[in-house]
Order: sequence, then C-alpha cells, then structure tokens
Amino acid sequence: MPPTHEVLNQPPPLVGYGLYDADPALASALHREGAAWANDRVRALGVLAGSPEAVAWGEAANTHPPALRTHDRYGRRVDEVEFHPAWHRLLGTAVQHGLHAAPWRDPRPGAQVARAAGFYLWSQVEAGHGCPVSMTFAAVPALRAAPELAGVWEPKLTALAYDPGLAPLADKAGALCGMAMTEKQGGSDVRANTTSAIPAGDDLWRLTGHKWFCSAPMSDAFLVLAQAPAGLSCFLVPRVLPDGARNGFHLQRLKDKLGNRANASAEVELDGATGWLVGEAGRGLAAILEMVNHTRLDCVVGSAALMRQAVAQATHHTAHRSAFGRRLADQPLMANVLADLAVESEAATCLAMRVAGAFDRAAGDPAEASLRRLATAVAKYWVCKRAPAVAAEALECLGGHGYVEDSGLPRLYREAPLNSLWEGAGNINSLDVLRVLARQPQSLEVLLAEVAPARAAEPRLDRAAAAVERELAATPDPVGLQAGARRLVERLGVLLQGALLVRFGHPAVADAFCASRLAGDHGAALGTLPPGLDLAAIVERATPKVG
Ligand SMILES: Cc1cc2nc3c(=O)[nH]c(=O)nc-3n(C[C@H](O)[C@H](O)[C@H](O)COP(=O)(O)OP(=O)(O)OC[C@H]3O[C@@H](n4cnc5c(N)ncnc54)[C@H](O)[C@@H]3O)c2cc1C
Repeated sequence: MPPTHEVLNQPPPLVGYGLYDADPALASALHREGAAWANDRVRALGVLAGSPEAVAWGEAANTHPPALRTHDRYGRRVDEVEFHPAWHRLLGTAVQHGLHAAPWRDPRPGAQVARAAGFYLWSQVEAGHGCPVSMTFAAVPALRAAPELAGVWEPKLTALAYDPGLAPLADKAGALCGMAMTEKQGGSDVRANTTSAIPAGDDLWRLTGHKWFCSAPMSDAFLVLAQAPAGLSCFLVPRVLPDGARNGFHLQRLKDKLGNRANASAEVELDGATGWLVGEAGRGLAAILEMVNHTRLDCVVGSAALMRQAVAQATHHTAHRSAFGRRLADQPLMANVLADLAVESEAATCLAMRVAGAFDRAAGDPAEASLRRLATAVAKYWVCKRAPAVAAEALECLGGHGYVEDSGLPRLYREAPLNSLWEGAGNINSLDVLRVLARQPQSLEVLLAEVAPARAAEPRLDRAAAAVERELAATPDPVGLQAGARRLVERLGVLLQGALLVRFGHPAVADAFCASRLAGDHGAALGTLPPGLDLAAIVERATPKVG
C-alpha cells in the first residue's frame, strides 16, 4: 500500500459495544423508576443496538428511502410503499421486543419505564422506524374507548409479530396503527378539519377528505379525525376491509422530508373510506388526545436518545483523535464542549425516564397522574428543543468528518428538529402547559413537590425554584401569559431536570447543571461551562468503551 494511503489518527468505528452499559444515567433511571426487573433484557437490546449489523440497517434504511407505488402496471390502484429490507429488520426487531406494546401486554409496575428504555436504545440505531412503533403503542389506550373495536384490534396491535403487507386483519399475525389529523389548512388547529364523516348504517361511517401528513402510511389502520354531524370525531380507518377489499384510502404522494427519511409520510385521499367511531361522536379530540399523550412521551424519549447517540459519537471520536499533541478530549476547551453536551444529554435522559415512570404510576396515584399530565408537556417542549443544538455541536466535535454523511451525524442533525415539531409544535406544547396550569392547578403543586427534596441540598436549585414560584405568583391567570409561555415552560423543565440530577445524578454532572442551567453561569452556545467543574469525570462517564 502506498504510504499516502496509510490511515492514521482516525477512531475505530463505534460498533460492538452495549449502549445500555455505556449509559449509566439510563441504567440508574431504569432501576430508580421501578424497572430493575427489565435490566437484562434492556441490556441485551442495547448490545444488539451497538452491533455492526444493526448499525448497517440504520444506514441502509436511510440511504434507500421508501418509494410509493400508487398503481400497478395495468393501472389499478395499489397504494403500496416499498421499503428496503433494512427497514423491515429495524421495525421487526422493535416489534419482536415489544417496543410497540409491552406495557399493554404485561402492565406490571415499571412496564412503561422498561419499554421507554428499550425505545431509547433501539431508536439510537435509527429514528425513523420509531414513528410506526410509537403510534402503534399510543393507539391502544385510545382505542380502548371503543371496547368492541379494541377487542378485535388490540390482540393484533400488541402481538410480537411484524407482519408487513396489506391483508384483512384476520389474516395477519400482527398489525400497526398510524394517525391522520393534519390537513392542509391546519395541523395545530385540528378543529378546522374539513374531512367529513357521514353515518352509513351498521355502526359504519364514510369518510371523505384529504389528510396532508400521514406518516407510516403502510400501517394497517389509522385513527382519523373527521367532522361528523355531532362535531369533530375520531374514527378507526383500516386500509383493508374485513372482506379483503381495499378501503378508500389512497396515497397521493410521499413527502420529501428534511430528515426522518427512512420513514414514509404521505398525503392521503379518503374517498368514502369506511371507518368505525372511537369514543363519542363530537368528542374526537378527547379520544385522540389519549394517543397524542403517549406519542408525546416518545418524542421526549426519542429526543433524549438522539442526544445520547450524538454525545456517544462525539466523545468516542475525540477520545481517539489527537490534535496539537493531545487527544482532542483532553484539550481543555474540547473537554468543556463535551461535558456541556453530556450534561444536557444526562438531564434529558433523567427527565424522560421520570416522565415514563409517571405513565406507569398514573393509574393508581393521582399525584403521578397530575405530574404525568404537566411533565409530559413540559418535557416535550424542553427536551425536544435541546436536540438540534446538541446534534449541531456534537457534529462539530468530529470536525469536517461530522459534516459527511457516513459519519452518521448528518442523519442525527436532520432528525433533531422533528420531535419538537410533530405531536404539537413548540408553541402549541407551551400553550398546553398554560392550559394544564389553569385547569389542573394541583399539577403545579405536584411538580414543585417533586423539586422540593432537592432544594435543601442545593442552594442554586432553591434560588431558581423560588424565582419560578415568585413569577407564577405574579401571574394569577396562566392562560393570559401566552407570550411568556416558552420562558415559563423552559424554567419548569430545567427545574425538574435539576432536581432529578441533584437527587439522583452523578455529583459532577449535577454540579455542572446547577452552575450553568440554574445559576446562569453559562453562555448561549454549548461549551461555555464555568471554571471549577470536574469536566474530566463528566466526559469519562459519557464516553463509550469500545473493544
Ligand atoms: C415528518 C412529519 C410527519 C408527520 N406525520 C403526521 C402524521 O402521521 N399524522 C398527522 O396527523 N400529522 C403529522 N404531521 C403533521 C404535524 O403534526 C403538523 O405539521 C404539526 O402539528 C403542525 O401543524 P401545521 O404544519 O399545520 O402548522 P401550523 O398549525 O400552521 O403551525 C405553524 C406554526 O405556528 C405555531 N402556532 C400555531 N398556533 C399557534 C398559536 N395559537 N400561538 C402561537 N403559535 C402558534 C405552531 O407552533 C407552528 O410553529 C407530520 C409532520 C411532519 C413534519
């Protein structure tokens, strides 16, 4: 080999390691939040997620995005989406591990946390296929508002069998479910939906209209919002009817998206499609919100996962590359950047798992139910908002290579804004927090009670909590606070994260979080932690050990 082709000073590939074992923040949260029993199975999924095969599936599913086939060669509609085999491997593995359904199959204490931990690890391989996984997971509790329908669909939606292809439900070993709310004239304001639903006898409805964003369009069924005579209502619309005929559900085109490219997102024409009512007519928003609450949890978990993967890539690269006579990770300024990234990532992981724990405990504990309602909206806003900044900064840690597709960082960067956008964009989520504060004031008390035990231990947290309390006391009507909603929600999110890190986190991480995020000794960019922190300990903890 000519000497010019000798490869020096490049890191080994970040494969062949266990993502769970490399993530102490996740492991301690899993135990703390009541899912210690799942330790071994979560660890095994983490090993699979770090395997060269899985990493290659993630790459291939994005290099070969899905293609729409609207018609067959004879001109008949087929409405099929073709995927690379790697997509099916990713989705099949997720289903096999119950990431779409485990808490509904076995609702034991900690089931939500265990499933969230699995989703967090597996979506680090590839985020796009998490969309149908998450929507199927979230559809089940919404569908339970229609017990007869749930009786038919739930066994297939919760089966551990991935069975792609269009067929009547009875012929399928397992099924997936999506959602179709957004229309051209409005996504946030779904009350403006114009899709109509008219009764067709025998509990059937006919839906006619156009849905502007409908992800995972190869799913077996969708929860669809449409205007019935009684008002906006929720319907289950299968793609194949029980007699084997195709429903009037036509894929018009696939979106050419910034990221999330392995996943298909379609525009859909509902042409007299047959649907079944879910919940009460005229109460469609309430019915589908049960689904949205669960997908919002996954937005939080997914963004925490994305940040963790970005930090793993950045710490790994800089641990193995030198410049100016030192490992990059040992250069003091790079250590600041890496530590700041790791602090953000650990804070996100802790909050995501705490919210998942509230999902577990909500049914039997009113305080946890209140926390679930408020903390999901707070975390959906704040954790998802941090992902683009973390992805961008992690990318820069790899230098020019981070800007090149095969480093994997561009994929994370393109994916990063999405979780904040869908399932209620940032403003909508912030306004939702105001609504919760107004309608369920006890949820704020529960959130502050969650923070309280850490206040005595950490004066910086105490001062930050007192400032938020003063601000809230000066705002008797939270809904009137619209223009300040992001500011308030961010502060609540940071408080919750700070309290979790002070109580349960690594001392160096908690110290850095309090100094920067709570005491305000921090710049606008990442890598601006103040002096006096144990940066080396934070970076060491975040660095995967490969080989
Ligand atoms: C990749 C992708 C996949 C998607 N998949 C699906 C899917 O499967 N099913 C589905 O139903 N939808 C899906 N969506 C749609 C998504 O949920 C909507 O795009 C989102 O809800 C926003 O709606 P919109 O695009 O109509 O924007 P708009 O509602 O027009 O909002 C535009 C901006 O205005 C802000 N805004 C709106 N109202 C207010 C207000 N009162 N005060 C302040 N700011 C406000 C919003 O926060 C947003 O930033 C998908 C979107 C993407 C990008």
